[in-house]
Amino acid sequence: MTQERRQILLATAVMVAVFGLYETAKTLLFPAMEVVTSHVVSTVVVGVITIVTARYVIRQQLNLLRERELSNRRLREALGDAERSGSLLASIVASVAEGLVIIDRDSQVLLVNDAARSLLGISDRPVARLSEVSRDPQVHRAFSSVLSTGERAEARIEIWSGSGDAGDQRRVLHLHAAPLRLGEVQTDGVVGALIDITKLERLERVRQEFLANVSHELRTPLASITAYIETLLDGAIDDNENSLRFLHTIQRNAERMRDLVNDVAELSAIETGRVRLNMENLPLRRVVAEVFNGLAHRGARYGIHMRNLVDEDCTVAADPRRLEQILTNLVDNAIKFNRPGGELRITAATSDDGQYTLIRVRDTGPGIAPEHLPRVFERFYRVDKARSREAGGTGLGLAIVKHLARAHGGEAYVTSEPGSGCEFTVKLPVRPVAANTGKSSTAEFTGREVANG
Ligand code: ADP
Repeated sequence: MTQERRQILLATAVMVAVFGLYETAKTLLFPAMEVVTSHVVSTVVVGVITIVTARYVIRQQLNLLRERELSNRRLREALGDAERSGSLLASIVASVAEGLVIIDRDSQVLLVNDAARSLLGISDRPVARLSEVSRDPQVHRAFSSVLSTGERAEARIEIWSGSGDAGDQRRVLHLHAAPLRLGEVQTDGVVGALIDITKLERLERVRQEFLANVSHELRTPLASITAYIETLLDGAIDDNENSLRFLHTIQRNAERMRDLVNDVAELSAIETGRVRLNMENLPLRRVVAEVFNGLAHRGARYGIHMRNLVDEDCTVAADPRRLEQILTNLVDNAIKFNRPGGELRITAATSDDGQYTLIRVRDTGPGIAPEHLPRVFERFYRVDKARSREAGGTGLGLAIVKHLARAHGGEAYVTSEPGSGCEFTVKLPVRPVAANTGKSSTAEFTGREVANG
């Protein structure tokens, strides 16, 4: 019997008892009451009892209804909250750049987000077990170590995308696996977070190579300076003719070190901090003439004819000091890697799409063999090391040229036919800059964008 039915039976029994008591009391107290009067009194009493009971019952029902309504609303709100936090969680998991893989104690996959699919190259295919997510033993070792010890674990994973040919892409991932605990103690699963550290590792390698190169480049002139000073101190100083020669060599090596330090400082200024470009509309022909002036003595020493073929009315949007630096490096190379009595010429044109000014520096030297062409803009890359050093090169000139061209939103590249010289092109965007007002606009860039040259 339900609680409600029991209450109804009880209420009916109480009502019958009350009515029985009332009838008994009425008969005992008023035995002579007329039948009609007795009925009227009974009807009034029953009516009053009915009204009281009905009000009580209705109030109870209303309270019940109100309570049910309230609890329904609470439930609806709770469901809404749960749905909202569920979808919030789902969208966070889907949108984070880190790959997420969550497994339970039996290595069944509970979740793999889009980033993890893309990093691990598993596209849209369904995955049920960890072995279907990755076959890499490092991944399995990290996940099972977390399951068995309850401690975090890390792993470095290498992934090759493609069919296994030489053109494949290698990707390095860092896996951070942490225990998933729903209660206080027990490890209920593992959350694995994956990040792509390919670029980071490459930059670290480039940095280390750069440092090794710089110290190697400094060691040679330094060793030479030390040796000559020792020779002078050992008595050569009294030999006037030789001591002068030794001092010149020391000076040349000291200058080489100074140039190297300057170029390294220049490159790191571009790559680390923020380099400010003071953009101006510059008359290119005049800039080239100034560069030629500065290098006239070098041109004369190598017997090079320098020809400025830039039109009078050609203007470029660039930072004056940086443009001069770019051209000086290219012209200096076109002089020192030319043939004696050769020629170098500078021309300018607008690209077919009208978006860029193309400044070309062409020489009549031996050119660069095709296998070296893609690498000459790398730091310290020299085709002929001895010749470059002999000519006082640091091996950083073209790297600086490329970085500065990119800083302007442009590019630098080279073409060459061995035997008939090289053509270096600097491509600078044609940008509208307030002309001839003496005002300049400023552009900033972060060196990181061009750190791979
Ligand atoms: P550096 O001139 O100090 O050696 P760069 O970075 O300017 O260093 O040039 C890198 C290398 O590219 C040079 O060592 C040289 O082998 C080659 N190179 C540059 N310019 C020319 C050129 N005009 N003709 C032939 N080779 C060149």
